[in-house]
Amino acid sequence: MKKEYDVVIAGAGVAGCVLARDLARLNYSVAVLEKSKREDMGHDWWDTVELRVFEEVDIPPPPPEEIKGSFNFLLFSPLSCAEIMASQPPTHLNLDRKSLAKRLIAVAESAGAEFYFETSARAPIMKDGAVAGVRWERGGESGEALAKISADASGMNAALREKMPETHGFKKSLSKNETILGYREIREDLTGGKGRSILILGKYDGVQWVSRDTPGFVDINVCILASCPDGDPRKILKEVIEQEGGIGDKVVRGGKAARIPLRNAFDSFVAPGLVLVGDCASMPNPLNGSGISSSMRAAHFAAEAIHSAIRANRNDVAALWQYNVDYKAAQDSKFVRMYVIQKYIFAEDRFYLDCIMKSGAFDIDWDMENKLGPKDNLRKLPGFLKLVRYPAFFLRLLKTLYLSEIVGRHFNKYPKEYDPQTFEKWSAKLESLILRIPLNKG
Ligand SMILES: Cc1cc2nc3c(=O)[nH]c(=O)nc-3n(C[C@H](O)[C@H](O)[C@H](O)COP(=O)(O)OP(=O)(O)OC[C@H]3O[C@@H](n4cnc5c(N)ncnc54)[C@H](O)[C@@H]3O)c2cc1C
Repeated sequence: MKKEYDVVIAGAGVAGCVLARDLARLNYSVAVLEKSKREDMGHDWWDTVELRVFEEVDIPPPPPEEIKGSFNFLLFSPLSCAEIMASQPPTHLNLDRKSLAKRLIAVAESAGAEFYFETSARAPIMKDGAVAGVRWERGGESGEALAKISADASGMNAALREKMPETHGFKKSLSKNETILGYREIREDLTGGKGRSILILGKYDGVQWVSRDTPGFVDINVCILASCPDGDPRKILKEVIEQEGGIGDKVVRGGKAARIPLRNAFDSFVAPGLVLVGDCASMPNPLNGSGISSSMRAAHFAAEAIHSAIRANRNDVAALWQYNVDYKAAQDSKFVRMYVIQKYIFAEDRFYLDCIMKSGAFDIDWDMENKLGPKDNLRKLPGFLKLVRYPAFFLRLLKTLYLSEIVGRHFNKYPKEYDPQTFEKWSAKLESLILRIPLNKG
């Protein structure tokens, strides 16, 4: 590894790879430090991704061998079957994460980025209050890679973020009620494709599914809020397997737990000499935990801001601010509305969750972030009105939907340029709106 780069990136996940590719093809020298081995990259299962994001970030669409079966779930509330189906639209594909990881690394390497596997980013190197590179470790060896700008794309580990002061609009670490524990196993399907696929929403403060949509396999996923008192995902998975049956004993893929951030994205993703991208910036969809598409989008915006900053020979917050502005406008203004709904749903009585799911006012749409307007939801109105019979609950629901709209509008006022006072006021207002979510205890 050289001593100095234009950009050093911690983490070779989706965010790190897209950022590395974008910057390397602009002829910047880029080093990507990745703690895992090359052959271990990518979750050993398949995940749902928006097809359009590949065009947005200029990466070839997934080849057929990367694509797995689309989900078609029968929905359950924690209390009973909701008798509705949730089917994945063609706007979204289930992609083999190992294949996607390999492809994104290849794209970044062929653009000229240097990858260093089995190399952990340990801490930011600080110089005059700014990040001036990354301290790394590989086996017994350690060293420093200096950079004009560094990026933390190390996912939930947040290798650099957690060593930064909390004065930049992001937190060092997340609390348990801001984190989902996910545990996934792929096993053999013993029903010959005749068994059902189910999705249970709201039980154990999370989601569990059994999918038989990829022929020959059963994909079992258990996601629970890390603060859930009953929280052992492996035990819950066993319970689900016993309940559904027709599932082989052997784990053929997966068998791994991982964490997902489930709070709204941070108010800012930049500090002097540093940007945060992807899960490290809490960028997944707050209602379903999907973070691949948003991470790729964010990396694309971050690369543009880094390019402008380096060209202007700057690394200060104001020089990198456009990244915040672009991501907040394109993605976060939608996700934050869903965050308001999520925060309320977690706190609401499960009886009412059951009522909503059976009322006709509810569906699962993989493209929900783009269907938040009244036009897209008009057909749910009759079902929604049925809920009037529970007036207190109905009022909480109305208030939540109203707040979700107001919070979304607040994002239109995100400071277009960096001014510490304006930013502080904007953050304080957001915090006060979030505190008004019904049943929110902070
Ligand atoms: C069970 C489960 C199911 C999911 N399902 C979906 C889904 O269907 N759709 C979807 O869009 N998203 C899904 N996600 C979320 C998705 O995986 C993440 O949002 C996405 O991978 C975030 O990308 P990232 O690059 O920010 O982080 P990651 O993909 O986590 O990459 C971070 C990289 O940094 C490396 N790293 C960590 N620490 C260090 C260090 N100190 N030094 C160097 N490298 C380091 C890690 O090894 C890793 O390779 C799921 C997540 C889980 C856990």
